[in-house]
Amino acid sequence: MNAKQGMKRAEGLTIVVPVFNEATGLPALHKKLMLLAERLGSQRGLAVEIVYVDDGSRDNTYAIARGLPAEKADVQTISFSRNFGKESALLAGLEHARKSAILFMDGDGQHPPELAEKLVALWQDEHYDVVYTAKAHRENEPATRRLFAKLFYRVLNFNVRQEIPEDAGDFRLLSPRAADALRQMPERNRFFKGMSSWIGFRQVRVPYEPAPRAYGASSWNMRALLGLSIEGLTSFSAAPLRIASLLGILLSASAFLFGLWILFETLVLGKTVPGYPSVIVGIMVIGGVQLLVLGVMGEYIAKILSELKRRPSYFIAESELRETGKSEYSERRSGTPREAAE
Ligand code: UDP
Ligand code: MG
Repeated sequence: MNAKQGMKRAEGLTIVVPVFNEATGLPALHKKLMLLAERLGSQRGLAVEIVYVDDGSRDNTYAIARGLPAEKADVQTISFSRNFGKESALLAGLEHARKSAILFMDGDGQHPPELAEKLVALWQDEHYDVVYTAKAHRENEPATRRLFAKLFYRVLNFNVRQEIPEDAGDFRLLSPRAADALRQMPERNRFFKGMSSWIGFRQVRVPYEPAPRAYGASSWNMRALLGLSIEGLTSFSAAPLRIASLLGILLSASAFLFGLWILFETLVLGKTVPGYPSVIVGIMVIGGVQLLVLGVMGEYIAKILSELKRRPSYFIAESELRETGKSEYSERRSGTPREAAE
């Protein structure tokens, strides 16, 4: 099966575009990508393939993707059996890529195709393996979101060997060996930003200003972002566990000191303590911290459970490959559950 790790991939670049309810903007994006493919082909002799992964859209995204012309680049379209989330869509693109290097790009026009040429240059001319883009600033975002992001990266990079760069996005290029490294990572709980920095090799940051969304609305809300953050934190760092233990130690230590103080008061100063409120406060604090620590442990246990089940990250309902220069569909498949299973 061509999705598998051992598959020999041709030299070239696969552009992976996850799409979820992006029907309106897709034709315009495709046009830009075709121009990009043409330039990469004429200027660098780079063969380009585009993989659209339809993540269970509720509009006609897949029908539109299937109708897009494969003029300057091969086009693969993959449609999931339901919405599995962006990380799963990226994984499907990575596994089904037929070219060795990978460029991840959002399907909403926020990742400028013009910048892609710069990313390719950094890979081909300067031999970087992971060329990632990062938001130059977050000035147009609400303050709470900025604060949340800061906090997230602080905890994520607490006491680690390989830091995950702040504000790095999913718009990134992977050299063939970096893409292979990612394919070798077996975990189900995927967090691409973290994983592609964890693998090492030569990494470079490219600051950019994301364009406003061309159409539609971002499908992230605070809840989804919080989910991804917890996912990222618990699959990439033991910091929450460590913070939990630190908190426990801190609390027990102060309780111990406080106990000593009460002893001193009763025995030396002869004071009997009425302190009913302080007892209640103490109990509440300790109870709260215990619940917090249990919650943190629960997150990790849930992670262990989901890795243990080894469920596929996605199921493919339909997929299709059209190669440039061939007028008829060269390959058309209907997904089977095994399609996605390893
Ligand atoms: N996306 C996806 N599955 C989802 C949500 C989003 O494949 O469940 C895609 C979406 O179509 C877009 C990209 O992921 O191409 C980024 O999504 P979005 O623009 O909503 O996120 P933001 O840019 O706000 O981070
Ligand atoms: Mg977006």
